[in-house]
Amino acid sequence: MMNTLFEQAKPVLETIKQHGHDAYFVGGAVRDYLMQREIHDVDITTSATPDEIEHIFPKTVPIGKEHGTINVVMEDGQYEVTTFRAEGDYDDHRRPNEVYFVRDLYEDVKRRDFTMNAIAMDSDYQLHDYFHGQKDIEQGVIRTVGPATERFDEDALRILRGLRFQAQLGFSIDHDTYEAMEALINQLAYLSVERIVVELQKLIAGKHVGESYQYMRKLKAFNYMPFFEHFNMDAFTVDRPIEFNDFIALLIVQQSPLAATSVLKLSNKDKQYISRLSEVMHQLPEISQKTVFRRLIYDYGADLILHALSLNDMMERNEIATPNPLVINTQTVAETAQQLPIRNRQDLAVTGKDLLDHTDRKGGPWVNEALYKLENGVINNQVPNSKDLLLEWMDKHVEIQ
Ligand code: ATP
Ligand code: MG
Repeated sequence: MMNTLFEQAKPVLETIKQHGHDAYFVGGAVRDYLMQREIHDVDITTSATPDEIEHIFPKTVPIGKEHGTINVVMEDGQYEVTTFRAEGDYDDHRRPNEVYFVRDLYEDVKRRDFTMNAIAMDSDYQLHDYFHGQKDIEQGVIRTVGPATERFDEDALRILRGLRFQAQLGFSIDHDTYEAMEALINQLAYLSVERIVVELQKLIAGKHVGESYQYMRKLKAFNYMPFFEHFNMDAFTVDRPIEFNDFIALLIVQQSPLAATSVLKLSNKDKQYISRLSEVMHQLPEISQKTVFRRLIYDYGADLILHALSLNDMMERNEIATPNPLVINTQTVAETAQQLPIRNRQDLAVTGKDLLDHTDRKGGPWVNEALYKLENGVINNQVPNSKDLLLEWMDKHVEIQ
């Protein structure tokens, strides 16, 4: 059966072949195609060296040239083209000491992680399946290429990748492969946190995460990972796919409101999202007053609060207090948000400078405190959002220390 993405990428393969080299589709795209799953990025593996690829195509980007990867830019998209590689010895359980470019497809697929990821396909959709990956796909089995212990010992990330493929595909793990995972699980400690997080993000959002999360717990995988090593992961259950950042926020609310996420080396945006979401989840159940509810929506925004409510099932599952559904539900959040006369401090009709001019006092922390109280006044309809009325109201109601 034809596939649009492969059809689009075909000219890359054919051009390489016209220059006398071999080229194949390989990896996740071939696996997903055979499973009739939607494919995303198409990876190409070739006998041509990176220099030869740069020579063949007018437009290329050397995104990982020393590892053999060149991006070929075509009119309709970009394709990662990687030279057949074999790997030297491993000393540190995560990176080969050397990679060699080779001219033989077999050598290249032999160093790949799982049989289902080691199938090459040429431009006529002919498979080159040296390790019976197709059969494993049909039977839904995750099996390493070659002896599992050796392959996990070379690169412990493969253990985590195996579990994340299980979470995504719902496959079972071959017996020997699982035993090797068990035996070598402590080698996860050698991995960089960046590589761990990439796999965990996919694992935790995988359709079949319920099962693989149980394996993660059984294997005590989290004991060997930064951040998670400080949590009691046996006390936390994941029984449906969730976003990684939500998972972290829930863990923090359940076990350790002060946990530092910085060891996970996430982007500032992700870190900020996690801390705001955990603050909201922490505060929501304690809200009984309308004024506090309004302030929370004003401070955090309705979207984040609605998102927190969408995690109610996960909170209940993990014995985290949930908000009172009669007071706080999607409807009351939306209604209350709509009633707010101002959305943020920029909407307030007075600025810090206005307060300084009006009071003739020196600046200090009081300015911020006064603005905070003025916001509360407006949010709770005690004073209209107009400059003169706000200043008048401040004189009467806001005590300045
Ligand atoms: P996805 O659909 O999530 O992209 P994928 O199988 O394509 O899954 P990638 O991380 O994109 O995974 O890697 C592409 C291919 O490179 C894999 O299919 C596999 O053949 C090989 N590979 C990736 N990581 C490793 C590894 N740690 N050890 C051995 N082979 C690997
Ligand atoms: Mg991929």
